Amino acid sequence: MIEKEVLKVFDKLLVIEKMCKKMRFVDPVYKKILEYEGETFKEIEGSSCFQYLGKNVSCTNCISMRAINTNETHVKIEYNPDEVLILTAVPIELSNRRVVVELIVDATKSMVVNSVPDNKDDFCDIHSLIDKMNNLTSKDSLTGVYNRRYLNEKLPIDIVNTALTDENITIVMADIDFFKRVNDQYGHLAGDHILKSFAEILLSNTKEVGGWVSRYGGEEFLIIIPRTGLKNAIKIAENIRREVESTEFIYKENNIRITSSFGVISLKPTNGLTVDILIEDVDRKLYLAKKNGRNRTEY
Ligand code: GH3
Ligand code: MG
Ligand code: MG
Repeated sequence: MIEKEVLKVFDKLLVIEKMCKKMRFVDPVYKKILEYEGETFKEIEGSSCFQYLGKNVSCTNCISMRAINTNETHVKIEYNPDEVLILTAVPIELSNRRVVVELIVDATKSMVVNSVPDNKDDFCDIHSLIDKMNNLTSKDSLTGVYNRRYLNEKLPIDIVNTALTDENITIVMADIDFFKRVNDQYGHLAGDHILKSFAEILLSNTKEVGGWVSRYGGEEFLIIIPRTGLKNAIKIAENIRREVESTEFIYKENNIRITSSFGVISLKPTNGLTVDILIEDVDRKLYLAKKNGRNRTEY
């Protein structure tokens, strides 16, 4: 059954393959390149999909994960020191597995890059332009932390990775207390300024423990810390809470004080654990922190 399905896919892709520098099957959750063998797809031992792009860590902006999540085709431009590549990720649903076909086209010669080969600065510019373009789809434009889309793409991968190593995944949900009042009293722009400063405090307290921050909604943020236990996470949340409480946020002539509340969960992922379940759990803890008086951490 699966063999027929795969052959059909190969058939369709034959023409496209001719246009590509590389065509491959990948599993974006495990970051593995897949090989079709007999009745099934097998992960190629030691392979990592991002290595082909000249990287040693997975892409921040994984379009194959996006393709799996949305069941739509996604495209991005990537580069390594020698090439500019256009990647297309096509999701394919087989009866027993969802995989992604990645088509990689070498656009080095057809892009502006080659018209200025002697000018190193211009060459750098196209690289930073590609970085900026790719960042646009994964970062929140106001605060610069990751957006919700990135959360939906990266958190499932962190869940799988921590499950594989039998470690804890820890999530902190942070929410500014009575933020509506700040907007009402000082204006929306003052509110925006505080959101940016609040996000900076979250970032500076999580970077060194290998965590990452995403804006979940208006004034709600999620901090994901793979391979960290509850005790450490509570410490981090409390450090942030105290720093926020003692900071004077200055906007124009106003010195604004705020407090914030935190929910913390930490667990070893088991089968069937989803992003939604984790977020519901941590949201419940945050709700407790609000109910119990705000400016506090519940776990
Ligand atoms: P609580 O302590 O229960 O969290 O109260 P709260 O006022 O913080 O919560 P509520 O959900 O009632 O209000 C959130 C406010 O956040 C309302 C909305 O105007 C504001 N907000 C959401 N996104 C932004 C934004 O991007 N900029 C600004 N300035 N305000 C925002
Ligand atoms: Mg709030
Ligand atoms: Mg809120």
